[in-house]
Amino acid sequence: MSSENSACAEMVERTRRAYIQAYGKTPELIVTAPGRVNLIGEHTDYNDGFVLPAAIDRQVVMAAGRRDDGQVGLRALDFDDAVEFHVANQRRSTVSKWSNYQRAVIWALQEAGYEVPGFNAVFTSDVPIGSGLSSSAAIELATCQTLQKLADIDLDGVTRALLCQKAENEFVGMRCGIMDQYIISLGQAQHALLIDCRDLSYQAVPLPQGVKVVICDTKKRRGLVDSAYNTRRAECEAGAAAMGVKALRDISPEQFTEYELKLDTTVRKRCRHVITENQRVLDAVAAMRVGDLTTLGRLLNESHASLRDDYEVSCTELDIMTEIAWRQPGVLGARMTGAGFGGCTVNLVEDEHAEAFLSQVSSAYQLATGLQPDIYICTAVEGAHQVV
Ligand code: ADP
Ligand code: MG
Repeated sequence: MSSENSACAEMVERTRRAYIQAYGKTPELIVTAPGRVNLIGEHTDYNDGFVLPAAIDRQVVMAAGRRDDGQVGLRALDFDDAVEFHVANQRRSTVSKWSNYQRAVIWALQEAGYEVPGFNAVFTSDVPIGSGLSSSAAIELATCQTLQKLADIDLDGVTRALLCQKAENEFVGMRCGIMDQYIISLGQAQHALLIDCRDLSYQAVPLPQGVKVVICDTKKRRGLVDSAYNTRRAECEAGAAAMGVKALRDISPEQFTEYELKLDTTVRKRCRHVITENQRVLDAVAAMRVGDLTTLGRLLNESHASLRDDYEVSCTELDIMTEIAWRQPGVLGARMTGAGFGGCTVNLVEDEHAEAFLSQVSSAYQLATGLQPDIYICTAVEGAHQVV
């Protein structure tokens, strides 16, 4: 438990107590799985491109133990709800929808040929729901880690991420890319991961010294996101087809200046975002490796402008939050993060300015929008793992 944060330690104790109370014995194990934030590389994952996320110190904690009657007992402490079902023949629940993430992982493990035993699990989470910090993928990875340990299933981190992505895509029915499950599976403390979404390789990139990653939740809940997401994906596919490549990953910014005139205005803008964003991710990693924080910050700002103007997935609240951040002392860069239309911004703020940033941005944003934001000063943590 030494490396865990105090919130995590409290959640471990709470899940342990709840498990004992519900099932009359101590849990065999307790696992944790973090939420995540993407520093740069937005809407690039489904274009075979690059992303640069970090796992953050907000997490799911799950206490579990085997049972021998083939039943699964799940308790969601935050929803004060419990379900019980047989481990075979998983189907989506319309009643306790929160249990679909666990059912999905059971299903995906069974699909992959593993035998899943009956088990009990109690869980809680402080990853905000629906803010774009991936509370759902954190639950999937916590469940997968739990079942791997309980049933002695050996999966490497990438395979585990792919299995949980399949669970979310095919069982839950959400067509997400690989980024969330990947970073939550493989995240490293004090590092972001540069992930190549084509070949699924990664490099750990140390986060800059003297800088805090600050997440600002606009509290504007993503509305349009599903339909807009599907439209953007289709526009990217159309652009790649018109330029004769498998994915937008295959076009460099230089090549794009030759090709872009072939594309209609909307598709051209969407492609320009993805192609320049891929380059920005690589440039951001290069800047981090040499400690060039000015360039790193500028790339974040340019990413926001590109998402706002070319990809058109920002919204008033995200723009206001970002513009307020840009005016604060000690801010290297700020941009919207996640799919868009609400959710969070990510900000790189010099250590000594982080507390002032929090209070200034909070009051200025509230004044401008009437919404009370949540602001988290984060550290990058290890991916899903057993703590007890
Ligand atoms: P996100 O962007 O946070 O992943 P999703 O809509 O994909 O948003 O997933 C949120 C869903 O995950 C919730 O509606 C709920 O079903 C489940 N979930 C998240 N956090 C919890 C929690 N603390 N307890 C139970 N279920 C949760
Ligand atoms: Mg989700």
